[in-house]
Amino acid sequence: MSADRLQALASRFASLKLDALLVSAPPNVRYLSGFTGSNALLAVSASGSATLFTDPRYSIQAAQQSPSCAPKIVRGPLSAAVAHFAARKRWRRVGFEKARMIYSDFASLDESLPAGASLKPMPPLVEALRSVKSEAEIALIRRSVLTNSQALASTLPKIRPGVSESEIAAELEYQMRLHGAEKPAFETIVAAGARTALPHAEPGAARLQPDHLLLIDMGASQDGYASDMTRMFSLGKPARKLRTMYNAVLEAQLAAIARVRPGVTAAQVDRAARSVLAAHGLGAAFVHSTGHGLGLEIHEAPRIGAKDNTPLQAGMAITIEPGAYIEGFGGVRIEDTVLVTASGCEPLTPTSKELVTL
Ligand code: ZN
Ligand code: ZN
Repeated sequence: MSADRLQALASRFASLKLDALLVSAPPNVRYLSGFTGSNALLAVSASGSATLFTDPRYSIQAAQQSPSCAPKIVRGPLSAAVAHFAARKRWRRVGFEKARMIYSDFASLDESLPAGASLKPMPPLVEALRSVKSEAEIALIRRSVLTNSQALASTLPKIRPGVSESEIAAELEYQMRLHGAEKPAFETIVAAGARTALPHAEPGAARLQPDHLLLIDMGASQDGYASDMTRMFSLGKPARKLRTMYNAVLEAQLAAIARVRPGVTAAQVDRAARSVLAAHGLGAAFVHSTGHGLGLEIHEAPRIGAKDNTPLQAGMAITIEPGAYIEGFGGVRIEDTVLVTASGCEPLTPTSKELVTL
């Protein structure tokens, strides 16, 4: 599997005039080599062979996870060892991930490379491969989505007035792990009352009140793969204004999902959600993009936003999550994880989208 990925990557090198690419972003290293450690550089040659550089903390792990990448265990900075390796291979044009490598690593590599060899900034090559998922990856995303929904279902009976946002977030994350996740895919968002107007509220000590609106945005990371879901709850009967807003956001979300199919651009999907909210007078209240790809990372290509003209392809996993936020009143967001299929799409998230009264 990783051999196919390496070949697909290396097949781009001729047109980019590269002898090799240094992969530094941990999710990209994982995608290509299977290695999950935090300190690594993966050198991929034009023939599609890869060499993994890491430190002695990971010698056992690297041998277990990436035997085909001939792990090299380095004491001290990886850059000197990689530069030495590049010199031996007589690489002259060595690509690096310009959006991913930190400057001090770049500088020490640049300094160590032999005369005649140079570093070339590269666009997100591995990320482009990662945006279309294999069957095996889709199976992992499905399982992560299921775990996430089970964690929410197990937590709901514990949500009642007097419980704090932080306590709910802690329970959700505990339940994720009990259901098989290794960790949350991102900081769980739990916001109550008017704080729901903060799209990325951090859960705090605020306690739920009997008339509160509640927003929960949660994702699991299971076997490395992310899920992402937002659901809304009302403690007590929801006010009319809230119900109207909820229905508008739901209509926008369903319109965007209905637009998802291969060949349609990310921007067109975004427009489908945006035009519904605008028609309800909520255009200005929708302050973020409609969604994002997800996989080994919670935010991946494509971005389902007005400026991303990437055509969707079967095998992409994306979120659809329009929202509307009104300061002092509250916010509503509804989010599912959706798989692009050959004939359209399949929403993976099984949790009901009714505005549940707790
Ligand atoms: Zn989310
Ligand atoms: Zn999301």
